[in-house]
Amino acid sequence: MRLNFYSLSSGSSGNCYYLGNEFHGILIDAGISATSIRKFLKNIDVSMRTIMGVLITHNHIDHIRGLEVLTRKESLPAFTTDKIWKSILSPKNKISRDCIREIPVQQKFKIAGFDIEAFPVCHDAPETIGFHICAGEKKITIATDLGHICQTVAPYIKAANMLVIESNYDEEMLINGRYPPFLKARIQSDNGHLGNRQTSAFLADIINDNISHICLAHLSKNNNTPEKALQALQQIFSEKGIILNPHQQISILNRNIPTDILRLIE
Ligand SMILES: [Zn+2]
Ligand SMILES: [Zn+2]
Repeated sequence: MRLNFYSLSSGSSGNCYYLGNEFHGILIDAGISATSIRKFLKNIDVSMRTIMGVLITHNHIDHIRGLEVLTRKESLPAFTTDKIWKSILSPKNKISRDCIREIPVQQKFKIAGFDIEAFPVCHDAPETIGFHICAGEKKITIATDLGHICQTVAPYIKAANMLVIESNYDEEMLINGRYPPFLKARIQSDNGHLGNRQTSAFLADIINDNISHICLAHLSKNNNTPEKALQALQQIFSEKGIILNPHQQISILNRNIPTDILRLIE
């Protein structure tokens, strides 16, 4: 079985990720327009007809922008918790009610042969979840919006072969930047986002031979650069004497445009 991961867009302006094999796939979040999702998938020869569902992490617009159209025009089933559905649905929005699927937290469910488990993360939405997905012999954990890595989250991250984790802001850029104090405080809080140093320190603690891919995700447009996110990680790894194996790969996911496909199983 082949297994590909493809980030269509990552960051505060839109998040959408694809995981799929030669038969079918799933999306994680739909934070860009349905038109862009279709186009970016077509670029890698994936038809919308092979997408069996979209998993939704929370109600922020950078995760659900394209959801309404995907449910109405593609009849794509959308999976999230009851509480997150309540925070998304309103009389005004036109999400097709036929596409709503409720999922439990910390209990396995299946979509298209993938074993999936949602886990709670700390973030400033009514509820936010990450996903741990088992596909063949590979385990993928996706946690893109979280203020800190609490005890519930850590085991899902440690168990992953491939990790998509937020590295949202460079601490100095945020502190010295133009955001108002309340927003800086929100971002840095335990319910906000993970900074480069926080993410890097955690990764240095848990890195092990089973982790083959680390994707730094959800970079801030105003308070981070791909270079700074990577530098922070390299610095902590070198301070702690961590040397990656040749098969371990670090990627920085692009904002607004797709990142090259990662082939988890060739
Ligand atoms: Zn977000
Ligand atoms: Zn968010």
